[in-house]
Amino acid sequence: MKALDELTFDNRFARLGDAFSTHVLPEPLDEPRLVVASKAAMALLDLDPAVAETSVFAELFGGHKLWAEAEPRAMVYSGHQFGGYTPQLGDGRGLLLGEVYNQAGEHWDLHLKGAGMTPYSRMGDGRAVLRSSIREFLASEALHALGIPSSRALCVIGSSTPVWREKQERGAMVLRLAQSHIRFGHFEYFYYTKKPEQQAELAEHVLNLHYPECREQPEPYLAMFREIVERNAEMIAKWQAYGFCHGVMNTDNMSILGITFDFGPFAFLDDFDAHFICNHSDHEGRYSFSNQVPIGQWNLSALAQALTPFISVDALKEALGLYLPFYQAHYLDLMRRRLGLTTAEDDDQKLVEGLLKLMQNSGVDYTLFFRRLGDESAELAVKRLRDDFVDLAGFDAWAERYKARVARDGNDSQEQRRERMHAVNPLYILRNYLAQNAIAAAEAGDYSEVRRLHEVLSKPFEEQAGMEQYAQRPPDWGKHLEISCSS
Ligand code: AMP
Ligand code: MG
Repeated sequence: MKALDELTFDNRFARLGDAFSTHVLPEPLDEPRLVVASKAAMALLDLDPAVAETSVFAELFGGHKLWAEAEPRAMVYSGHQFGGYTPQLGDGRGLLLGEVYNQAGEHWDLHLKGAGMTPYSRMGDGRAVLRSSIREFLASEALHALGIPSSRALCVIGSSTPVWREKQERGAMVLRLAQSHIRFGHFEYFYYTKKPEQQAELAEHVLNLHYPECREQPEPYLAMFREIVERNAEMIAKWQAYGFCHGVMNTDNMSILGITFDFGPFAFLDDFDAHFICNHSDHEGRYSFSNQVPIGQWNLSALAQALTPFISVDALKEALGLYLPFYQAHYLDLMRRRLGLTTAEDDDQKLVEGLLKLMQNSGVDYTLFFRRLGDESAELAVKRLRDDFVDLAGFDAWAERYKARVARDGNDSQEQRRERMHAVNPLYILRNYLAQNAIAAAEAGDYSEVRRLHEVLSKPFEEQAGMEQYAQRPPDWGKHLEISCSS
């Protein structure tokens, strides 16, 4: 276990120099205070969890203090936003403080979001508000606990600093951890600004640090791109299987590691709705729930375009062609497990689609349905779940197919079935209204609800005593909350 001053830095991205990032010091928040910290994320840095309660912790992550070895930098990148190219973006309100390596030899970027203005702030104030910082914190840690690759969050620091959005709010910072903060948009920036040398340097950097095994392949860059395609396909398969809607899948928000990244107006589905749009500025539904799948491929093609100096167009096309098969394989594998199946049959995709159609028509709670399906034998579970459906004949027909499929799958005991299914079907997810309740309390100065919710979501598959209220369908007021995009 380490104390705060014992972190070991090795700032590999900063060493790439001024063409890639700009030195900027964090702008401190007034009266910094700990809102919530993740012990699991602290463990990634070998940090003793007790240090979260010290005043120096809030000072460090509230922008007042800095390690001597840290080198805070704002990264430059660009990207396609809602399908159109924006030539220059960059860290407008976040700083890469440095890279820390832990005892296991892993490097973790420390990224402080809400740290003030940078050369990339454009019209923004460089700040993040408490509300959006709490949402990012809860989402990153909850996704990780569900087994969905994501950036992590060490803590949220609150403050008395006024920040103007639709109304006056308070500034906050979230300390984000990821093994890299390099986005698709980094490659696009150097490609479209026609800086081949820097682009090659960036590609070498990513290959060496994050895809070293691809070095062994005859075409290392192509192998790396294939791996990025597969990781993104797997990540999106998990989003779809668990009902996560990202909301702003611009290429500047897509990580080259295939992790969920840059949280905005995201949402988990309550009722299953393939057409759900969580981002209220997304009038066309470009990033609707079901569109996330093709958009994943669209984003990878934008990255592919930026990689044309290193990889032939034919090879890139072939690698892009792997996206859908990878996606489908991962998705179906996870959905089979969610249904309690251990074997594969050709018609399983249809079984899943049939169920989703019925759920869509009846507005069935996506999370609770699967959890309840595992509570009992297939026979008893479908009997009980039947009441949630409007199209009873349709559900009965599906239930017959499901029971027959379960019977062909093998006959394990109900105990085994429940254990197997509960291990992949969460009881607790980050419902928007739960986040909203925790935020309202935190804005009034009470952080206990954020902390409790974080705790519950860190073990989403385990039934926790006295936490029934976190495993309910939303009340009417909490069903279709408008989440402000100004974060
Ligand atoms: P996002 O939609 O959060 O991914 O942000 C898109 C771009 O706008 C990024 O370059 C951000 O750094 C920048 N940005 C977002 N909010 C602010 C803000 N409050 N101040 C400065 N820059 C911002
Ligand atoms: Mg972003």
